[in-house]
Amino acid sequence: MGKYWYRHRCCICGQFVSWDADNATPFGDANDYEPPDPEYFCIACIKEQKTHYRKHNYLPTHWAFAKWELELAIEMGFWRAGPGGAAWGGWRKIDKPLPEDYKWQTIVGWEGNTPKGEMKWPRTKAT
Ligand SMILES: [Zn+2]
Repeated sequence: MGKYWYRHRCCICGQFVSWDADNATPFGDANDYEPPDPEYFCIACIKEQKTHYRKHNYLPTHWAFAKWELELAIEMGFWRAGPGGAAWGGWRKIDKPLPEDYKWQTIVGWEGNTPKGEMKWPRTKAT
C-alpha cells in the first residue's frame, strides 16, 4: 500500500483543517446511496457563520449540528426540538410555541439542561 495522505477541508473556503475541527452533518435525502459525511469548518469561517446567523436571527439545520451552532443557539435563545419520538430535530426559538406534536429534545452532553433552564457548558467548546 502506498503512502496515504488525507486531511479534512473547510466546507466553505476549502482550507485544510485539523482532525478535530468543528463539524456538522447535513440531512441526507432519499436519493443518497449512503448517509452524508460530516462537513468541517475552519475557525475563520465559523466566525463568519456566527456573524451571519446572529444578524439574521436563525440557525442552520443539520442532522448533527456543530459545536458553534450550539453556542450560538444558547446565546440567541434557541434549543433543539422535533416531532415527538423523532430522532431528528431543528433549532427553535425557546420563547415561541412549538408546532403541534413537537417536543423539546435532550442534547447529548447537555442532559439536564432545559430550553429555559440554566445552561451548563459541556466539556468541549468550539473556538
Ligand atoms: Zn473556512
